[in-house]
Amino acid sequence: MARAAISGGLKVRRTWRPAVLLERRPETASASTLVLDVPEWPGHLAGQHVDVRLTAPDGYQAARSYSLAAPSDGEQIEITVQAVPDGEVSGYLVGDARVGDTVEVRGPVGGWFVWKPEQSSPVLLVAGGSGVVPLMAMIRSRDGISSAPFRLIYSVRTPEDRIYHDELRQRATEDGGLTVTFLYTRAAPEHEPRPLGRLGLDDLVSYGWPAEVEPTCYVCGPTPFVETVADLLIFLGHDSTRIRTERFGPSGS
Ligand SMILES: Cc1cc2nc3c(=O)[nH]c(=O)nc-3n(C[C@H](O)[C@H](O)[C@H](O)COP(=O)(O)OP(=O)(O)OC[C@H]3O[C@@H](n4cnc5c(N)ncnc54)[C@H](O)[C@@H]3O)c2cc1C
Repeated sequence: MARAAISGGLKVRRTWRPAVLLERRPETASASTLVLDVPEWPGHLAGQHVDVRLTAPDGYQAARSYSLAAPSDGEQIEITVQAVPDGEVSGYLVGDARVGDTVEVRGPVGGWFVWKPEQSSPVLLVAGGSGVVPLMAMIRSRDGISSAPFRLIYSVRTPEDRIYHDELRQRATEDGGLTVTFLYTRAAPEHEPRPLGRLGLDDLVSYGWPAEVEPTCYVCGPTPFVETVADLLIFLGHDSTRIRTERFGPSGS
């Protein structure tokens, strides 16, 4: 019985479904949020991702993974895509896709890099670049449902690269249980006290949680960023079983 239920669930997640683009919202000069309508979407958890498949008129197909950016909401899902230079799929989704276009999606995928509202322990979110997407889904999922305190540390190159900037600022202003810290590597806003630079030990000490608080840590971004942050967290005494990572390396198939 349980076996049948599991295999039924796997079949649902492995099925490619048509997804119609309902809305494309620019987030930065090179990143957009796409709202897709997916009939019979089974629902998802914050942190999970989907595979998106494009098919050219000659039958050529390309599939890439994209994190779900918002909590489960019926048959609508949101992804936020950062265009990478010469990117086959991200270039199309950010630059060319039009409302009414159909792509295919499969998922939801992933069971470890997820946050559930019933988790009451403090949460540390550490993002590099577009790695903020699944962490934003966690922040949005927490809204009004959970009082678990969240701290987000978000590393970007320049202020123009901050995805969800206005919403994050507003949420942090209105919600005493959420702090948001931006770190800049190449250019910072005027009067930014922290010198430019990659995320380091001092940043995790200043803006994260001490290990004694036993936070669950979610780290997402480019592979070298994720590995560095995970190593620093271990060095600071965080238990490896409470460090969950998602690497946004190339995901072509
Ligand atoms: C689990 C998972 C979740 C992901 N979620 C998101 C998300 O929410 N938003 C998002 O924008 N991306 C996300 N990605 C990355 C995404 O799947 C693609 O890798 C990315 O969009 C590039 O695909 P492309 O077809 O445009 O580039 P390609 O045509 O595959 O590659 C073009 C060039 O870019 C390089 N490249 C490929 N991928 C990346 C990358 N991720 N970073 C930097 N350079 C790259 C390639 O080496 C190549 O030189 C996720 C990846 C994984 C594995």
